[in-house]
Amino acid sequence: MISKSSKVFLSIAAGVLMAIGGVLTCTPSKEASSLPPPAQETAEEPAAEPQEPVRVFAADDLSNLAPDAPDVPVYDKHTLAERRAAGLPTALPDIAPYRTGKTVYLTFDDGPDDKNTPAVLDILREAGVKATFYVTGRQAEAHPDVLRRIYDEGHAIGNHSYDHRYEKLYPDVNGFLAEMERTDEIIYGILGVRPLILRAPGGKIGHFTAAYAPAIRANGYVEHDWNVSSADAAPGHPVAQDFIDNISSETDQEVAARTAIILMHSSEGHEETVKALPKIIELLKAKGYTFGVITPMTPQPW
Ligand SMILES: [Zn+2]
Repeated sequence: MISKSSKVFLSIAAGVLMAIGGVLTCTPSKEASSLPPPAQETAEEPAAEPQEPVRVFAADDLSNLAPDAPDVPVYDKHTLAERRAAGLPTALPDIAPYRTGKTVYLTFDDGPDDKNTPAVLDILREAGVKATFYVTGRQAEAHPDVLRRIYDEGHAIGNHSYDHRYEKLYPDVNGFLAEMERTDEIIYGILGVRPLILRAPGGKIGHFTAAYAPAIRANGYVEHDWNVSSADAAPGHPVAQDFIDNISSETDQEVAARTAIILMHSSEGHEETVKALPKIIELLKAKGYTFGVITPMTPQPW
């Protein structure tokens, strides 16, 4: 659920965006209109009217990517193939990153699955915070209903390749882009939008050559690694308390104390991440962070 104050903020943000964006398409949040259902209502009645989350859709000419609402996801309504066919730009313009206060970005990679990702979504909903899910095309194909739920609940979705295979991604940038475009098509087939954000499997350091950054930008993507790792994919079967400790200490470091992009996983086998998440959110709230979602305007994590 979006808190009332966030909703007011989002409504204001949406208004500002529409004013400055011109061709911006945006779905403003609804006013709080529904009270909890009376006790005598039957169990089949929905508990509350679902609220359409606020999102920004890139303009055809990509000119509206300068809003200042770090918890509003951004998507493109066109695939790259559509943009090419229509002669629309595919390359992002120069984008100034948000200047925000102390912000944390929870990111969950390698999903969606049908167990841990829904559990993560339940926890996020309970805590009233938004996050970013870097999904693979293969997992999205397998669990389109979970991908839809991520989208419907106002989180951001990023591209994390089709099946995470380094041998297809890192010999050369054309292989990398082909895997990303394939995944975009799958996401678009389910949601009718494509992400403008991506995360290189394994991170870009040690994987990208000089050819990658310009080619990624020419195709309208912004890549974000992370500066805080839960280390929930480390060898040796780490447990929930390890992730909490890692995040607690790493968010004290200079850059992360201001802008923390936290790496976690919500795929199969990551039950300990689910277990740790309520305490992680609690500790980040106690440190004074607000929660954002990754967009093309999110500052780089270093
Ligand atoms: Zn990954």
